[in-house]
Amino acid sequence: MELLGDFLVIGSGVAGLRAAISLAEHGEVIILTKAHPSESNTGYAQGGIAAAVGPDDSPELHARDTIAAGDGLCVPEAVDVLVHEGRKYVQELIDWGAEFERMPNGQPSLTREGAHSVRRVLHAQDATGRAIGRILWSRVASHKRIRILDDALATDLIMHGHKCLGATYMTTAGDRGTVKATHTLLATGGAGQVYRETTNPAIATGDGIAMAALAGARIVDIEFVQFHPTVLNVKGSPRFLLSEALRGEGARLTNQGGEAFMSRYEAAGDLASRDLVARAMVAESELTRAPVYLTMEHLDPIQVHERFPTIAAACRRAGLDLATDRIPVSPAAHYLMGGVETDLDGRTSIPGLLAAGEVACTGVHGANRLASNSLLEGLVFGARAAEAMMYPPAPGSLPERTTEEWPLSRGTGEAFPSASEVRELMWRSVGLFRDEGGLSGAVVQLNRWSEAVTRPPRPRQSELEFRRIRSLVTVGLLIARAAMRRKESRGCHFRTDFPVHNDPLWKRHVSDILT
Ligand SMILES: Cc1cc2nc3c(=O)[nH]c(=O)nc-3n(C[C@H](O)[C@H](O)[C@H](O)COP(=O)(O)OP(=O)(O)OC[C@H]3O[C@@H](n4cnc5c(N)ncnc54)[C@H](O)[C@@H]3O)c2cc1C
Repeated sequence: MELLGDFLVIGSGVAGLRAAISLAEHGEVIILTKAHPSESNTGYAQGGIAAAVGPDDSPELHARDTIAAGDGLCVPEAVDVLVHEGRKYVQELIDWGAEFERMPNGQPSLTREGAHSVRRVLHAQDATGRAIGRILWSRVASHKRIRILDDALATDLIMHGHKCLGATYMTTAGDRGTVKATHTLLATGGAGQVYRETTNPAIATGDGIAMAALAGARIVDIEFVQFHPTVLNVKGSPRFLLSEALRGEGARLTNQGGEAFMSRYEAAGDLASRDLVARAMVAESELTRAPVYLTMEHLDPIQVHERFPTIAAACRRAGLDLATDRIPVSPAAHYLMGGVETDLDGRTSIPGLLAAGEVACTGVHGANRLASNSLLEGLVFGARAAEAMMYPPAPGSLPERTTEEWPLSRGTGEAFPSASEVRELMWRSVGLFRDEGGLSGAVVQLNRWSEAVTRPPRPRQSELEFRRIRSLVTVGLLIARAAMRRKESRGCHFRTDFPVHNDPLWKRHVSDILT
């Protein structure tokens, strides 16, 4: 099927839906989404959405915390947009009917999460993403100028010279089509599935980054992968996220002997930033040769169950009681700070192609994202990208940066990898702890695989699986190579062979272009 629209939006998470709502006021919008429309990282978000709405808070304070977490690499202009416009877009959600928890006086009930200096996180119990998605979806689904194609996987961008004119897609039933549009927005979310252990659902394979990179877009800061410290680790149970809000409400990390060990590693204890907590947990586990646990035994069990019903249900399915049992936890890949490089209006280095949400890198998170800033980012920058698509401003405003051109390996005849081979390699060699040996081995292997995934699928090979693996290999290679290049530790990029900052050489961003 060949479709024509004014605007093509790829993805139906918070960024894509928020953009589509604005775009539909100005033209015909087509949304491609590769699974059921509600299947997105957005739908899994638990803890909440950060916004400086509390009496002891301000956008300036929110900016300060965001920049401190970003460890020297946040783009200050992007942070400024996030914290100032964030309040407006969160209020808009409330006006549209989002039901965040409230205190008896009607003010939002705010929770605290790691590295926030005040209570700042609005939430709908422990299923905030689902509540936000529902509100946005109700506006999109009823709009006459929005056409949604679900189970439609965008496969490649349609390029004319260096300009993007839309995308090709294929449905799960195997039908193929094209959507041509004046502007295309990538809102395809993150890439947690690149790793063996992840909190992300199956859709998060980094397709948008892979498609953009293969079309020649600039990719930036992609070495920065956030590993969430507390993921349920029970054999045979899914790696369910145990939100940071649990620790915000008093949960503690303990070792096998019951000691709350975090204060031995970090002054901020259990509420230190995610990378520090994750690494301390691994160190403690190695020291004691035993698992580490999250415990809420010292808190009121009724309140625990009332405040965290979704997490309590997941623990119950694993045979544990969130309020009274010690819950075994370990880190897993959670969030990608880098991605398709954009300016503050979502424009990429390819004319006609914009990006917003987790697929994009505005620089707002720097080297490490502050908890609950990503739903906010999707809302704010989704809306801004829509404005830029409706009223295109003057082109060419990406920041001046060091850019490396990087030829993809061709012609080695390497066998096609399985998804689990790629994910295992990334977890082992490009994970929480990185070093030259592991990274260079991973780059060599991923380079070989990248040749295999540029050949057409073999007869009898499922094309959907082929596409999935192509994304995993392309994004994996981008991450591994950038991690090998950055010879320092910063934010959540930790090199055991370069364990400290090297500001003179590395307090900067580097963009990659695949050729
Ligand atoms: C378990 C979990 C808990 C989280 N908790 C929080 C939290 O409390 N607060 C917070 O701020 N953030 C949280 N996050 C992060 C946050 O949810 C995401 O960063 C954010 O929702 C990303 O939104 P998005 O619109 O960019 O992408 P997503 O919501 O991931 O949406 C991506 C969309 O793109 C579609 N798509 C992908 N590839 C293709 C393709 N090739 N063709 C067509 N469609 C495609 C997908 O199907 C999906 O609809 C959490 C994430 C997880 C996984």
